[in-house]
Amino acid sequence: MTWDDVVDILFDGSEKEIKSLRCPDCNGKITTIYNVNNNSLKVLCKSCGYNSVLNGCESIPNCFRIR
Ligand SMILES: [Zn+2]
Repeated sequence: MTWDDVVDILFDGSEKEIKSLRCPDCNGKITTIYNVNNNSLKVLCKSCGYNSVLNGCESIPNCFRIR
């Protein structure tokens, strides 16, 4: 699995798929923070320090909707 696959699941995956997601780099737990004000999704892995921000999301990601 790559980070692209992770992002696909964060947006379109089922609750089960999202909850079982793991960091492709270190197998750590992924943290996501969605900002409704500017439609950006921050993806973090606290274990290895991966940190990415997706700006201008066109739809609310499922990982946010499910919570
Ligand atoms: Zn990691």
